[in-house]
Formats: sequence, structure tokens, C-alpha cells
Amino acid sequence: MNGERLRLMRVGPLDLAPLDSLAARLARRLRLSCDVLEETIDASFAHEPRRGQYHSTALLDVLARTHGERGRLLAVTEHDLFVPILTFVYGEAQLGGPCAIVSMHRLREEFYGLPAREDVLQDRLEKEAVHELGHTFGLRHCMDWRCVMASNHAIDRVDLKSAGFCAACRKLIA
Ligand SMILES: [Zn+2]
Ligand SMILES: [Zn+2]
Repeated sequence: MNGERLRLMRVGPLDLAPLDSLAARLARRLRLSCDVLEETIDASFAHEPRRGQYHSTALLDVLARTHGERGRLLAVTEHDLFVPILTFVYGEAQLGGPCAIVSMHRLREEFYGLPAREDVLQDRLEKEAVHELGHTFGLRHCMDWRCVMASNHAIDRVDLKSAGFCAACRKLIA
């Protein structure tokens, strides 16, 4: 990943501020240069009214078609994401790249009826972003619960794991 370029992009309405701090964290952790794009895409085509959620695979397809050629891209959204077989996903990625998407929706303390905490949100967003980017680098899920590539479907498991790769995963992407 050294020296590689990553682009962050908003999907749907979202402030630039959380992306700026995520970009700084990802640049440091993954040692790549990270730009935040000004442009956004409207996700309404991926909205599933019965579920009140957005289909992440449909979003990824469009992102790959419109932005995939220019290299690795991580999309960030406030929308709640799903794939048909699961009630929700924190994010989704194309295995082996170039595109990934993460949702902030279920990373917020407010989603669980708790007061907002910016530090908690940023930590979770970094972990889920590194996780999905790990998939774009070809990594699959890891059995080590401390590894960022551990598969999580509950927020307390996200909080337990680290934002870094275990030794085995690090070796795979080196
Ligand atoms: Zn995963
Ligand atoms: Zn691992």
C-alpha cells in the first residue's frame, strides 16, 4: 500500500468533515496518500423502500463503473446499507478492488439510543474503512477477533477489534 493513492467519496448527503479526519487516519495507518473528492453521487437508485435501506452491491456496481478505472475508491455514506441475505451491512467491497463502501449509520452511538460520541464514531469508521479496504487488497475474513479483518455483525465486536491487520493478514498484503 506504500505510496498508493486512495480516493474518498461521499454517497448521499454528508458533511466533508468526517471524511477529512478519516482520510488523515487512513493515510497514517495504511501509508498511502488519501484525497477527498468534492463530487458526490445520489444513491436513490439503490433505495429499497420496503426495507428503508440502500442496496450496497448496486451502489458498488455504479461506483466501479463510473470511478473504478481511476484507482482505489472508498465511498462513505450515512445511508443504512444491506445485501439481500442480511438485515444490514456496515459496508461492502469488491474482493481484489477497486471499490468499497462503508456506512456511518450503525456506527453512531445515537443509533443505539446513546449520546453522540465523535471519538467513538471516528474509531469505528476507521476500523470499518480499513476492513473494507482490506477486501479490496484481496484479504478475506480473519479468524483472529482482534484483527481488523474479523467479520462483525454487532457493534460491540467492532469496538473489541483493533484498527490494524494481524501478522498473517499483513503478510498477505505485503
Ligand atoms: Zn468483510
Ligand atoms: Zn487477520
